[in-house]
Amino acid sequence: MIFDKTGTLTHGNFTVRHLEKIGAETDRKKMLELLALIEAPSSHPLAATLVKAARMEGVSIPKDVDLLQHTILKGEGVTATIDGVRVFAGNKLLFERIGMYADLPVTYRDLYDKWSNEGGTVGFLGVENTGIIATYCVEDAVREEAKVVIRSLQEGGIEVIMLTGDSDGAAKAIAFQVGLPESSVHSQLLPEDKLRFVGSLAKPSARQCGLCHSKSLVLMCGDGVNDAPALAAADVGVAMGEGAALAMEMSDITLMDSNLSKLVYAIKMGTRVLHTVQENILLSLLSKLIVVGLTFAGKMTLLTAIASDVCVMLLVTLNGMKLLPGHTAGSIDVLRARTQRSRKYEKLVQRSFHGPNTAEIV
Ligand code: ADP
Ligand code: MG
Repeated sequence: MIFDKTGTLTHGNFTVRHLEKIGAETDRKKMLELLALIEAPSSHPLAATLVKAARMEGVSIPKDVDLLQHTILKGEGVTATIDGVRVFAGNKLLFERIGMYADLPVTYRDLYDKWSNEGGTVGFLGVENTGIIATYCVEDAVREEAKVVIRSLQEGGIEVIMLTGDSDGAAKAIAFQVGLPESSVHSQLLPEDKLRFVGSLAKPSARQCGLCHSKSLVLMCGDGVNDAPALAAADVGVAMGEGAALAMEMSDITLMDSNLSKLVYAIKMGTRVLHTVQENILLSLLSKLIVVGLTFAGKMTLLTAIASDVCVMLLVTLNGMKLLPGHTAGSIDVLRARTQRSRKYEKLVQRSFHGPNTAEIV
């Protein structure tokens, strides 16, 4: 089972720890306006936090500016042209790629390492021809059920892995909180890296051991646009109900209330369903064999044969009914999820049709 970090193992509700202006070219108000402008149309959980941070300092999103070509850079951040100038917000990967990180003063690079090692998600705001003008550090809270879910999956013999686009420090801090060893953590991944990782595990050749074919399957659980390719490539893709519409479209299952314990419930329920099917098939075959045997022995009448057939049919139906909600642990949760379903589905449709004001997703 492969889990994404932000918004999947964590709530995606960030708290701003630090937000610092860099350089003298831009004043703090202007910097916060640019940050709010570029983040406002983004659907990433981090974006809302940064907009809120700007608002908390009394800065509102300016209306009289030209914001064009707003583009999500998957696994890196966002970019847009604001009044004819290209602006970027995102992680170190993005700023290394566009060459701005190399010009960042050593003090701020040390600060990046310090904040990352403390487990924070660190990012930057940069302006074309000016360089990086701000850095921030935000922290996310782990979902309450994540640790218990991961432990029960591991106890059930399932290997659990975490993939994230976030920095190594933030990834390791969250892994520690949910009880995952560092060897199960893969950080700073772009969407294509996640796809490649899932694809390499989901390939039939990766599951074969000599002549025997092991029955291992790959489940990917994620919430973001950046997880969508990996969700599609996995044997089973699971999206979080609070996540991006694209992730839900690409997955096989959506956890409508984003509660990870449903995964454990689904696995237990799947095992029970398979066992019940096997029991029913065995019961039916056995009864037929007995009837055939008795017929050849001359001890079966037509009426008894019909009666036994009907009895077995009733028995397998009753046996199947033990799987109905009300007879299984966790059924209350399922019912609750069902009642929330229609409301969340409406939201999902609204988001699909009136999604973020984003020109392009690359
Ligand atoms: P994860 O794989 O943990 O869900 P993502 O792939 O969604 O993380 O994002 C990877 C990183 O890209 C984030 O940790 C963040 O630093 C950066 N990022 C993504 N979107 C934005 C955004 N709108 N603004 C700033 N940074 C962003
Ligand atoms: Mg995510």
